[in-house]
Order: sequence, then C-alpha cells, then structure tokens
Amino acid sequence: MTTTTYDCAIVGGGPAGLTAAIYLARFRRRVVLFDRGGSRAALIPVSHNHAGFPEGIAGGELLARMGEQAAEYGAELRVGDVAEVAAAGDDWRLGGAGIDLIARTVLFATGVDNRRPELDEAVHRAALAAGKLRYCPVCDGWEAGGPDFGARVGVVGAKSHGVAEALFLRTFTPHVRLFTLEECELHEKDRADLADHGVTWDPRPVTAYDFSGAAVRLCFADGDAAEVDTLYPALGSEPNDELIQALGLRTDSDRCVMTDKHQQLGLKGLFAAGDLVAGLDQISVAMGHAAIAAVAIHNDLRERDGATPG
Ligand SMILES: Cc1cc2nc3c(=O)[nH]c(=O)nc-3n(C[C@H](O)[C@H](O)[C@H](O)COP(=O)(O)OP(=O)(O)OC[C@H]3O[C@@H](n4cnc5c(N)ncnc54)[C@H](O)[C@@H]3O)c2cc1C
Repeated sequence: MTTTTYDCAIVGGGPAGLTAAIYLARFRRRVVLFDRGGSRAALIPVSHNHAGFPEGIAGGELLARMGEQAAEYGAELRVGDVAEVAAAGDDWRLGGAGIDLIARTVLFATGVDNRRPELDEAVHRAALAAGKLRYCPVCDGWEAGGPDFGARVGVVGAKSHGVAEALFLRTFTPHVRLFTLEECELHEKDRADLADHGVTWDPRPVTAYDFSGAAVRLCFADGDAAEVDTLYPALGSEPNDELIQALGLRTDSDRCVMTDKHQQLGLKGLFAAGDLVAGLDQISVAMGHAAIAAVAIHNDLRERDGATPG
C-alpha cells in the first residue's frame, strides 16, 4: 500500500486549524486536517467581539464558513482522532483509528477544554445558550454587564485566577461576587483587592446550581442560596496536550506549549497554534498564530525543496 505524503497535517479543526488550512491550501500545499469534534468555538452562542461581524456570529457558523473556505481551495477536512505523531525520517507519521499517513510538517491546533462545574450536559448547554453561564469575560463581559451595566455577576473558583477574573469583571458592573467550590483561604492581598474594588467574597463552598429560573441560584450546605444573573466558572482548563507530551515538547506551568516567533516547536517540522499555545485564548489570536505558522510552514518547505511548487 502506498502512503500519501501531505505537505502539512493539521490536528484540530477549530479557528486555529481551519485558518491554517485556508492559508496552506491557498499556498497550493497538500493539506489534511483532522478534527475529533469539541472545538471551544462551537460552544459560542453568539460572539460579539470577533471583528468584522457587528451583528455577532455564532461559533458554529464561523467554523462552518471557515471549513467551506478551506475546502474551496482543496484542503481535506476529515473527522478523526489523531492518537499518535511519530518521526518518520525527515517527515512525521500520523496514526489513529482509520488514520495512517505521512506529513512533512504537522500543526498542532488541539486547543484546551474548560473545566466545568458539575452540571448535566443539557442544563450546561441551555445555560450557555441563555447567557446565564459564560466562560470568557474578555469575550462577553460587555453582555454579562447587562444593558445598563448593573447586572449581578458571579465567579466561581476562588484561586488567584478566580480573583483576577472577578476584578476584571468590575469593568462591566459594580455587582460582582466571588464564590468557591471548596473551603479555602484567600491571600491577604487578594482579599484587600476584592474589598477595594467592591467585589463580595463568599467563602461558603457552593454545593449545587439551579439554572431553571430567571436568575442563577448557587446553593450552600447551610441551606442558604445566592442569586446572580450570570455565572462565570473560573476553574481553569485542560490542554489537549497528549500528542505534545508524548513528543516530549516544552510546556509552561499551565501545560500550554511554548513556540518560537514562527510558531515552531522544538522539533523540525512541528508547529502549534491557538489556545494550546501559551497566551491569550481568543479566536483572533488563534487565527493570528495560524497565519504565522502557515507562512512559516510554506517557507520551510520551499527552502527544503529549493523551489516554489507550481
Ligand atoms: C463559551 C465560550 C465562549 C467564547 N467566546 C469567545 C468569543 O466571543 N470571542 C473569542 O475570541 N473567543 C471566544 N472563546 C474562546 C475561543 O472559543 C477559543 O479561543 C478558540 O476556539 C480557540 O481555537 P483553537 O482552534 O485553538 O481551539 P478549539 O476551537 O478548541 O479547537 C481545537 C479542536 O481540536 C480538536 N482536537 C484536539 N485533540 C485532537 C486530536 N488528537 N485529534 C483530532 N482533533 C483534536 C478538538 O476536539 C477541537 O475540535 C469562547 C470560548 C468559550 C468556551
């Protein structure tokens, strides 16, 4: 059996992977993209901060449009879970169920997954759609603040990340409360910062959530409950880093990968883009990384071949 060799295999079909697929296909490169489903962008009911869409755009629609654009120029978009990337001479072999191919370069655009509060999947989905549950204050703090910037916003997750998120949200409303899932002590400085900015800190662990009414109810073991209009979990995220870890590539303390300014990893022919890379988790950043990586990949292959394909 002859194995097809691709110029680039992209792992992950979110905004980062799809942007790279568009660029590389338009550089007349043979490119294949695998996605196992679960892009964080697919969870966005409507994004209002993505430039160029003043009326907003649903994450699913943005992904569909990008996929159409990539396919238009010949990128192969496949559903599949890449289980292994291993060196094969100067190239790389990708493996997984129904996947066995050689690629000269690989772009990892596998993203991260938010740690979620314990909620039934249907409740989680409905709460996201209703804007009662949100994950990205940078993206939608404006909407969470409400029409008069006076809405009640809660953040659950009291480590330094939760404190920072609660303080960030003060831009959009004076009514911000910080909650915790477990007994914990805040650092004195965090407590002082919260107090200075009028953020209320409730040290009682949240035991349950109720999204069924107009407001979000957070319940405590003592039978009491608190109400907010929107809840942001600040529980951190899990990078989809299995392939990166297996290759022994460098990550930071949050397990995000470190690249050079061309999005290159420490092994020749390997690149990374999007949320998986240390930095701001935003669609525009993922697209920017992917544009840089795609140009670097094309130029790297041109140099290796001593010519531009055509
Ligand atoms: C609720 C919510 C709202 C948001 N709102 C906004 C917003 O308004 N504006 C904004 O800029 N950002 C927003 N974000 C952030 C934005 O969604 C992310 O920054 C963006 O999706 C990152 O793109 P990515 O391509 O790096 O990763 P992702 O979009 O997460 O895509 C990664 C893909 O790779 C796949 N994958 C992983 N491992 C493998 C493997 N081994 N094989 C095959 N496929 C694999 C995953 O399943 C996934 O489909 C929001 C996020 C959330 C959760």
